[in-house]
Amino acid sequence: MMQLACEYIELLRRRGGWLDDWIVDDDEEYYDELIESKKHDGIRVTSSSKHGKGVCANKDFDEDDLILKDQMLVGAQHSLNKLDCIVCSYCFRFIGSVEFQIGRRLYLHSIGTDNDGAFERHCHGNDVGSSTSCSGATNVNANAVPQEVIMSLMAGDMQLPFTDQFALPSVVACPGGCEGELYCSQSCADSDWDSYHSLLCTGSRTEPSRRSALQKFVEHANGTNDIFLVAAKAITYTMLSDLVVASPVEDYFIYIDDLPDSEKEEVVKVTGQLLDALGEDYSVPCEGTAFFPLQSCMNHSCCPNAKAFKRDEDKDGDAVIVALEPIGKDDEVDNVAGYNINRIDT
Ligand SMILES: [Zn+2]
Ligand SMILES: [Zn+2]
Repeated sequence: MMQLACEYIELLRRRGGWLDDWIVDDDEEYYDELIESKKHDGIRVTSSSKHGKGVCANKDFDEDDLILKDQMLVGAQHSLNKLDCIVCSYCFRFIGSVEFQIGRRLYLHSIGTDNDGAFERHCHGNDVGSSTSCSGATNVNANAVPQEVIMSLMAGDMQLPFTDQFALPSVVACPGGCEGELYCSQSCADSDWDSYHSLLCTGSRTEPSRRSALQKFVEHANGTNDIFLVAAKAITYTMLSDLVVASPVEDYFIYIDDLPDSEKEEVVKVTGQLLDALGEDYSVPCEGTAFFPLQSCMNHSCCPNAKAFKRDEDKDGDAVIVALEPIGKDDEVDNVAGYNINRIDT
């Protein structure tokens, strides 16, 4: 496996050197460009002999102000979590529709239960960067819902009440023709293709000999560990953070539960059996591992002045950092020691 990981890293290196940028450690120019291109003018990356690299404020921030919305450089959804959440492979936004999310999840679990233990097989050795790696193997009782209902939810033939208030971007297929990756938009599909998916795509645009080698690699990586974790672990796993995006399915069922009783009764006749089938884990978020270039420069503190916090409007995989207290211009911005930066904080 190690050899495979090394070959993979070598492939990425030859491809265009973005990995060199990734592991660059003290190149201020690199961070200046990154900040400039992403318009994060509120902060700068500094290095001092005392603390090493750190992040400083370029202006004053008040309590609860947004300091940074850091786009990941590379990230991967845990392979097991893909059974429960369909998200854009590039920005990790939920895609399709609430019906599609529910239907596909029930469908995959209904095949899984026939296959006895097929899900558990994938659930081992996943020990890097996350304490929740196995939570994708949720307990779903798909048999409680008739197969026709599951199929029409997936196909988009059946509309659940009030889901128009939880509209999701429609699904865009991989330009290389594989079925493994789906996107929220053509621009995410193209960006992913240009950044790295063209190397990993097992679709018909990849030449056959490379395709079968890749398929073996992907299968092996899924069986033991998430594909990017394997590569990333070899380099610098201490810099990786948990990636979490809250589920619109959770928002939907909370909305239904909050309806006035008069209205709720009718609606629950339709949604009740779906919620029962999804079980306690109906709200499982998209989970994975990612590398956030700017957030990874922040120093940790036991008296932090900033924290990771996903606001209602943060529907993608970006790391979001807000001020815990007023932060003055030129003050260092630091966050909680040992805290998983991108966890949803409630
Ligand atoms: Zn996207
Ligand atoms: Zn593909």
